[in-house]
Amino acid sequence: MPFWAWKFESSPGHQITQRRTLPNPQGPKRLTESMAIHLHTDDLPAGLDLGGTVAIDTETMGLRMERDRLCLVQLSAGDGDAHIVRVTGDHDAAPALETILGNPRILKLFHFGRFDIAVLQARFGVPVSPVYCTKIASRFARTYTDRHGLKDLVRELLGIEISKQQQSSDWGRGDLSPEQLEYAAGDVLHLHRLRDELNAMLDREGRTHLAEACFRFLPDLAKIDSSGWCDLDVFAH
Ligand code: MN
Repeated sequence: MPFWAWKFESSPGHQITQRRTLPNPQGPKRLTESMAIHLHTDDLPAGLDLGGTVAIDTETMGLRMERDRLCLVQLSAGDGDAHIVRVTGDHDAAPALETILGNPRILKLFHFGRFDIAVLQARFGVPVSPVYCTKIASRFARTYTDRHGLKDLVRELLGIEISKQQQSSDWGRGDLSPEQLEYAAGDVLHLHRLRDELNAMLDREGRTHLAEACFRFLPDLAKIDSSGWCDLDVFAH
């Protein structure tokens, strides 16, 4: 049986599907035995419904927004599948993706959303709202540690080891490797369950309102960052 199964289609919005049968489930917390990665070019397929809560991550050429272009937008409905939109720059608009980003009834989940939201708002010109950030939630909920990376959260709260090996790779290449695609997908596959775990902790500690205040401010903070105040803490004395 092939490890990877590929299905090719071309033109924007169309997809390549890569399905991997994961090794034996490691304990009861394994979300799924099979994840599908749907690779799209420049937009999601029109009308794709990812539900009311969508996990989103981005990969860029680097960490400086004014210099480093957006390469990938990864999305998941929390069902174990991931949709990866490769942004080539050949198309200015991505109407299907923008519909999800700007929909006030769809909650967007991020890990360190401050960067992703700024990148997405700058690239697609829509306010990304409402949002939830697992890193902010973790900072309010997990005050017993300073380890708030995605890898740390997924390990502690879900008992899953994820690799960060492909984190700094060339996301601009046209022929992304299976390892890159799997890594990129992995960053959105666990956010729904992380949110559930973190919300329970926030509720237990009475800090939900603090996290929510930050989530509400996040789209504006991202706008402030990308308008030139990125390195300045306007709240500082
Ligand atoms: Mn990522």
